[in-house]
Amino acid sequence: MKQIALYGKGGIGKSTTSANLSAALSEKKLDIMQIGCDPKHDSTRMLMRGEWIPTVLDLVREKGESSLSTDDVVYTGYNGIRCVEAGGPEPGVGCAGRGIIATFQLLEKLDALYGDIIVYDVLGDVVCGGFAMPMREGYAQEVYLVTSGDFMALYAANNICKAIARLSRRSKARCTLGGVICNSANIEGEYELVSEFARLINSELIEFIPRNQIVRVAEVSKRTVLEYAPESEQAGVYRRLADKIMNNKPDPEKQPTPLTMDELESLAQKYIKA
Ligand code: SF4
Repeated sequence: MKQIALYGKGGIGKSTTSANLSAALSEKKLDIMQIGCDPKHDSTRMLMRGEWIPTVLDLVREKGESSLSTDDVVYTGYNGIRCVEAGGPEPGVGCAGRGIIATFQLLEKLDALYGDIIVYDVLGDVVCGGFAMPMREGYAQEVYLVTSGDFMALYAANNICKAIARLSRRSKARCTLGGVICNSANIEGEYELVSEFARLINSELIEFIPRNQIVRVAEVSKRTVLEYAPESEQAGVYRRLADKIMNNKPDPEKQPTPLTMDELESLAQKYIKA
């Protein structure tokens, strides 16, 4: 079982990337589970045709953990993908990881944490006190940083990189940095900027996802691009990402090297100009 986690700043398109990635992986006849951990709890919405599934945290609060069954928390979406939303407090508050801890504990108790690939879609904002939990507990084995060329997105990615560097030295956590995914914001020089950022943190840019209106159109149609426009170029980009992640075997000995604030600022100044 491969357990991968996509981390990135809120609003960067992490859930869109995760859902399209899961959809592309499911085309390979693999058993996929996607777990969203974000107060917005919209990670799996496009896989569920727009349905907001109940969150584990809400269900535990309402019904109590002991009365919950797998069917209460795991929902089957597009192409058989099993969808779970951890939930959390109000947006921007942070829950110190309660949402994701409750989810892991419950899924393990129900014997529901299985599959060929588990995709964790985790908010990586500084405000979220518990964002490192899947890494710390050894659930996120390969971490992918989702960013754009926007400075704050890179800042968040660099912070997550710091957490990986810290945690990958510990024995229980076996997480490694799998690579950087650029979800383009259509910024000039973005490819070069994010490629260099990836190199500097001792990683690589594994996919550049171009900004494409089809993503927005699919979203308002409550579908992933893979479902809405399977023949589109954009669907091909997500399939390529799925192939790369499937075949990726990051070296656990290779430690990420997060940048200092000065280094990050100089990098941004080199590419982002008036
Ligand atoms: S750990 Fe962070 S992202 Fe996860 S539920 Fe809590 S606040 Fe949300």
